[in-house]
Amino acid sequence: MPIERRVFLRYATLGCACCLAEKFTAAAAGEHGDGHATPHWSYEGETGPERWGELTPEFKVCQLGLEQTPIDLTSAMKGEADGSIAFDYCRRPLRLLNNGHTIQANVDSGCACTIGGTRYDLVQFHFHHPSEHLLDGKAFEMEVHFVHRSAAGALAVVGVFIRSGAYNHDLQPLFGQMPKSEGTEVAAAGACDPVALLPAARSYFRYAGSLTTPPCSEGLTWTVFRDPIEASPEQIRQFAAIFPNNARPVQPKNRRFLIETSS
Ligand SMILES: [Zn+2]
Repeated sequence: MPIERRVFLRYATLGCACCLAEKFTAAAAGEHGDGHATPHWSYEGETGPERWGELTPEFKVCQLGLEQTPIDLTSAMKGEADGSIAFDYCRRPLRLLNNGHTIQANVDSGCACTIGGTRYDLVQFHFHHPSEHLLDGKAFEMEVHFVHRSAAGALAVVGVFIRSGAYNHDLQPLFGQMPKSEGTEVAAAGACDPVALLPAARSYFRYAGSLTTPPCSEGLTWTVFRDPIEASPEQIRQFAAIFPNNARPVQPKNRRFLIETSS
């Protein structure tokens, strides 16, 4: 039974259910949170994605998990998602962090999304170049991930593709202030309402997946919009100059349901 295997894998790699929320929280915050140094990992070479599962027992689910993210968004079943999504985003000051793997914007509490009646607070959003998900086998130039956490510790991530096109004013408060080297977070000048970074058309894919970085923990609700937003070639170059490649390759879909809603 796939569900039993999934539960087994979670417990085998993460210890116990009570630790799960804590580890998810730590992972979402970009920290390990257990007092041990996180092994170095990267997007290529000896510590690249194919090796993540071997770097430490805590990363094993990267290799053994059956519900890993990202995936190719193709051959979806059309229908209603199990829990429609609504956004309650708001204008907030941002704290920008180069954590060595991405540029992350940490968000003060107050913004949230609701999925099927459960409220998930927006914790942070960050960027990948190129996109991690594929749409019918094709990558976009970039992808932004909005990471949300419920009061119970469950994570829900919203993905938005970014394609090369028009200059994006709403991205500039971030891209104009990106810390170029790894370090501690810095307060960004001005404030940002992340709703401006969502596409106008709200048709989306929904599936059960994982963190796309070690420890690759599963049990996340993924929502990825079909329509991209745009950024200028120069804006994309600004990010790519810091992170030429920070995308995990697509993972097997296995026996998961992939639903696509209409807007
Ligand atoms: Zn991400």
